[in-house]
Amino acid sequence: MAETKPEVEQFAFQAEISQLMSIIINTFYSNKEIFLRELISNASDALDKFRYQSLLDSSKLESGSELYIRIIPDKESKTLTIRDTGIGMTKADLVNNLGTIARSGTKAFMEALQTGADISMIGQFGVGFYSAYLIADKVQVTTKHNDDEQYIWESAAGGSFTITRDTEGESLGRGTAIKLFLKEDQLEYLEEKRIKEVVKRHSEFIGYPIELQVWEEKLVKKFEVLNKTKPLWTRNPEDITNEEYASFYKSITNDWEDHLAVKHFSVEGQLEFRSILFVPRRAPFDLFETKKKRNNIKLYVRRVFIMDDCEELIPEYLNFVKGIVDSEDLPLNISRETLQQNKILKVIRKNLIKKCIELFFEIAEDKEQFNKFYEAFSKNIKLAVHEDKTNMSKFAELLRFSSTKSGDEMTSLKDYVTRMPEKQKNIYYITGENRQAVENSPFTEVLKKRGFEVLLMTDPLDEYAMNALKEFEGKKTVIKEILNDKVEKVTVSNRISESPCVLVTGQYGWSANFERIMKAQALRDTSMASYMASKKIMEINPRHAIIKSLKGKVEQDKNDKTVRDLTWLLYETSLLQSGFTLEEASSFSSRIYKMIKLGLDISDEDDDEPEADSKEELPELQESGERSMMEEID
Ligand code: ADP
Ligand code: MG
Repeated sequence: MAETKPEVEQFAFQAEISQLMSIIINTFYSNKEIFLRELISNASDALDKFRYQSLLDSSKLESGSELYIRIIPDKESKTLTIRDTGIGMTKADLVNNLGTIARSGTKAFMEALQTGADISMIGQFGVGFYSAYLIADKVQVTTKHNDDEQYIWESAAGGSFTITRDTEGESLGRGTAIKLFLKEDQLEYLEEKRIKEVVKRHSEFIGYPIELQVWEEKLVKKFEVLNKTKPLWTRNPEDITNEEYASFYKSITNDWEDHLAVKHFSVEGQLEFRSILFVPRRAPFDLFETKKKRNNIKLYVRRVFIMDDCEELIPEYLNFVKGIVDSEDLPLNISRETLQQNKILKVIRKNLIKKCIELFFEIAEDKEQFNKFYEAFSKNIKLAVHEDKTNMSKFAELLRFSSTKSGDEMTSLKDYVTRMPEKQKNIYYITGENRQAVENSPFTEVLKKRGFEVLLMTDPLDEYAMNALKEFEGKKTVIKEILNDKVEKVTVSNRISESPCVLVTGQYGWSANFERIMKAQALRDTSMASYMASKKIMEINPRHAIIKSLKGKVEQDKNDKTVRDLTWLLYETSLLQSGFTLEEASSFSSRIYKMIKLGLDISDEDDDEPEADSKEELPELQESGERSMMEEID
């Protein structure tokens, strides 16, 4: 009985994907050859997935299940096919992965293009597949996954694609064949020489054979392997050129630029593994996106790829480091669950951290390189200082800050310490929302007068790191914070020189800066937020004329309305001076208007404005018994 012709189902591309495809098709762009790199990279990923699956379940390894990538040019039909024997896609995979589910990278890539990014960066944004439309009018994806029938996905762009069950075509067994119907002006990609050149340039270090179909004579076709599949990390570092490292780096990361630094090493003895670690030149667009997979180190066991998202391999704060680890000791059929407890993995992790630190210090030997590095990854270093108790002091040496003495440059804590005058015992830093606020704050003013250097910190993570780092080279770190919100108590202080009063946070409260981090949930842990929220202390300068006079007035009549207003104004002004917004701008303004009226001698009796704060209690004025850390300055 003949089967009825299968139905053709039509789907609309998700709107952003459709937009992206139009951009790819319509933008004038000459470096189109990168499409092949993207499709080969997808094929390699699919082979990795299949191989890992078959390690866990040997029934998946059928006979004749060779792992390869084939490139098949056909001049007659003007098509180029990229065939792999990887995991393939089910019908649902086709619908989801090739068109209907938006990825964060789709939008991010289009935005990047508008600000000067290059189309060749597409792979890093997780939408490399669509680069096929750089050279093809129409793309046909035939695929067979072990859990489903063979299907054909097809699209000539224009906002839609179709999926059809493949009942007539040649059976793939397993894997995917991507057939590109080349544009008339892109037929160069059918030429043997051109294909070889492109594979050599972009895909030399793919870990599966890339075989090009060539014609030996008119009628005999054969497959010629184009890449060296001997893994780079098994070779002697002395025989590897930087170009080879760069090419390998690009093949494992989809990066379009060379790496910034590389470390290739092996560990021998009780436990053996080899590794290559790379630091990229830039942070990826989604470095701290929480849903993103946690690391970029590919794990191999005796040359066999296992997985590229093993969380135990490297800490999250090193999530920007890319590379591979190849272990001699782990079992091949290791599962995610057993990895968590694995002792071998713990030792590998410790070594990777150590080697990363060595690598960062190597980068630091070249100031220009280090600036680039720090610009891209300072957040990671700060997280490392906070999270890694063992290596905290090493990571702290890599921190750089602006300071009252560093001018346009940044200074390390080491350099800061060498500049400290003898009488200075502590490392002083101030945190706030912007450079101007911290630089012009009364605290900075006082310290500068004493000849002390102050580190100026404006990144919320600065404080996160410094909270953990209680000292550096035996010098205590001492913070001054610019804060907002109301005060918890008022103390008399002798350390303010020009302002009548200032605000500081209590020893156990979070500063405004830290609250910002928690609010932004950049670091996820909000459990402490409620009871750690800022507790402010208002410190009063008893020698200041305003304070002297106000004190006299309070002693005369504590409940005098004008005195109360003046006291509130003083508090609110110190808030403003610290660079923060007022919570109740309206009561502040009404107090100001009253003062203006007073100055202009206008009677207050005509209007009966409600008093915003008549019942509000001012914080108790008390002599502070608890000497704040700040007082050590005097
Ligand atoms: P990325 O490779 O970064 O995930 P792509 O746009 O290149 O993004 O590919 C999208 C998805 O399509 C892949 O994640 C994968 O699920 C699927 N895919 C693409 N090519 C293949 C292939 N040859 N075999 C199996 N799945 C594939
Ligand atoms: Mg891809």
